Amino acid sequence: MIELLAPAGNLEKLKIAVLYGADAVFIGGKEFSLRSRASNFTLEDIKEGCEFAHKHNAKVHVTTNILPHNNNLEGLKEYLINLEKCGVDAIICASLYIINTALKYTNLEVHVSTQDSVCNVEAINFYKSLGCKRVVLGREVSLAELKDIRSKTDMDIEVFIHGGMCSSYSGRCMLSNEMASRDANRGGCAHSCRWNYDLIDNDKLINNGNYFSLASKDLCALKYIPDFIDNNITSLKIEGRMKSIHYIATVVNAYRRAIDEYYKFKTVDFDKYDFMIKKAENRLTSIGFYNGDPGVNEHLYINFGEEPSQEYVGNVLGYEDGYMIMEVRNYFTKDDTLEVFSPKEELKTFKITEILDENNEVVEVCNHPNQIVKIKVPFKVLEFDFIRKV
Ligand code: SF4
Repeated sequence: MIELLAPAGNLEKLKIAVLYGADAVFIGGKEFSLRSRASNFTLEDIKEGCEFAHKHNAKVHVTTNILPHNNNLEGLKEYLINLEKCGVDAIICASLYIINTALKYTNLEVHVSTQDSVCNVEAINFYKSLGCKRVVLGREVSLAELKDIRSKTDMDIEVFIHGGMCSSYSGRCMLSNEMASRDANRGGCAHSCRWNYDLIDNDKLINNGNYFSLASKDLCALKYIPDFIDNNITSLKIEGRMKSIHYIATVVNAYRRAIDEYYKFKTVDFDKYDFMIKKAENRLTSIGFYNGDPGVNEHLYINFGEEPSQEYVGNVLGYEDGYMIMEVRNYFTKDDTLEVFSPKEELKTFKITEILDENNEVVEVCNHPNQIVKIKVPFKVLEFDFIRKV
């Protein structure tokens, strides 16, 4: 069965991703990883994450995908050995030196990072000859090319199915280095492509009040699930270790349900899962390179920002005697109708009849993030369920 691989920026996100249907998660350690600002895991966290994931039959991949300079190499061998001791299932590497060290001193499965922009079968065969187990293809490979590659190699192949795209060739960007002195290839990307820019033609400002964006739309390849499965692709990767727990739960669960539906019925209700994803996705999406070179529809042009979902109002921490214990995340009032989003159930809604604070005092309005409240519910809810406003 095809693997659904989800991002996890911390232990809470790892648990949410696994509970909402990921077969594997990818995380970054404190060292040798890109996305160094994505609340990276200590070795203790990695061990705990592996134990949790394995208990739920999921795997943990750790990114060790920086392009190291001489002063980044110290402690690499010991770090990789420690990852193996923590129970990590695979590491994701870009540097040949890190690949070689991992293969020489550990039994970790080595996956070749998308940072290496592998877009052809000869490159795949090269990494296979080294002993690597899997290649994460460059996001620039079209579906037609993917099918051709698959027909010519039995190497494990991972592709991106959802999330942010680089407007530069994947991982070969110096924009952030130039604009913010932060090296994207050593974990420091400042997302400079998403900043607001003026557009000037022959010294004339032509953006008419709207700022121009250099970024691409995010990827959403939901409709290609049948193609990926029918062509024996090994793994479908969702990008976004910096995203919220609500985003991860929503997107992972939509893809989980869509994949399971295709295996069961050989058809997928794409509109249903697209609607589900949009409850958390706040950027415009496109199919990236899957239909060939991107055109105007794949570029973002105008920056719409990244507003958090206003429908998402809180997380369930527990259930006691007809009340759910909830951590508030966004504004709602006692007059609202709420929706319960749970990993294995269909959505359930209810009209609020009573909200109590920690002292059992009646609350009319919830507008303090992280406030703990008790809400009367007509059915049982579970820890890790999410609550949205209808
Ligand atoms: S600045 Fe944009 S294009 Fe460059 S690495 Fe970061 S996300 Fe990619």
